[in-house]
Amino acid sequence: MESPSNSNTQPVVVSGIQPSGSLHIGNYFGAIRQHIELHTKHETYYFIVNYHALTSLQNAEALARYSRDVALDYLALGFDPEKASLFLQSDVPEVTELAWIFDTLTPVSQLEKAVAYKDKLSQGMSPNAGLFNYPVLQAADILIYGGTLVPVGADQKQNIEICRDLAQRFNDRFSPDDPVLTVPDPYIMKDVAIVPGIDGQKMSKSYNNTIGIFDEGKVLKKKVMNILTDSTPLEEPKNPDRCNVFALIRLFGDPETVDQIAAAYRAGGYGYGHAKTELLELIGAYFEDARERRKALEARPEFVMDVLREGGRRGREKAREIMERVRSATGLITTYE
Ligand code: ADP
Repeated sequence: MESPSNSNTQPVVVSGIQPSGSLHIGNYFGAIRQHIELHTKHETYYFIVNYHALTSLQNAEALARYSRDVALDYLALGFDPEKASLFLQSDVPEVTELAWIFDTLTPVSQLEKAVAYKDKLSQGMSPNAGLFNYPVLQAADILIYGGTLVPVGADQKQNIEICRDLAQRFNDRFSPDDPVLTVPDPYIMKDVAIVPGIDGQKMSKSYNNTIGIFDEGKVLKKKVMNILTDSTPLEEPKNPDRCNVFALIRLFGDPETVDQIAAAYRAGGYGYGHAKTELLELIGAYFEDARERRKALEARPEFVMDVLREGGRRGREKAREIMERVRSATGLITTYE
């Protein structure tokens, strides 16, 4: 029998956010902005994937701090806890149980082909088993809430394929007549450009080249002034399309400002220092309201915990419904109420 798919059900949006470092403007334009846009439109579960983060961050104080910070950041950037659920992955520990069941259905050879894993190997790293199993836990994260729409960047497409395979395989093996799991669709986010870091490579916390969403003052200024440019002299015309500073200006400026700055680049007599000063102002203005909201939220840590607690309660409720069916379908007998 065909597995249920999102064509005949109400969409359920799910996505995980890794608390393995401070969120940066690459994360914002590549994911968070779309998350914020989507969460009021459909049933939505966003979880802070602290189990996943443990594969690379093994420091209790830092993991706890980054986890709370993600919640603060999302609330400051416009996440409305009345409209959707935001919670800690580890507040729904059932997800690791489902990941184990999925482990027994996943060929090692499939995980060996995962790009993220192969990248780590090619960098000479010796990944831990958690990192190897990363896509399996991700599949459990999606399927345990009945997720049908998974907003991800193009880099995540392979993991969504693994998730779809697992849902299909589970249904074929354990529940062919009454499929338990819904096969999700990736929702590849449109208009997602790769945001360059201050060294011109893809912005990533792994490359230490990020500008934090909530960086301000001297820290922000130093990073912007350090953005790598070529050495074209101030008076000469410049090509905005080949400039890291301009790539960021394009994200933060309104179309008119962006056009004006592009024209100044082409005309000459406009240096990279000018462009950096304009960028600094644009970033400051863009996140001004969010920064204010974040400061107000920092003074209310109990509120933030309450948001996570309530989100976790809703997530657990949903997860337990599916896990009951998963256990029954697989023959995992339960003896307690
Ligand atoms: P990092 O590379 O800093 O570890 P993650 O892998 O945790 O970032 O990415 C989280 C989300 O942010 C993903 O959906 C990813 O596609 C998006 N993202 C991360 N870096 C960028 C970037 N430089 N440009 C666009 N999107 C990005």
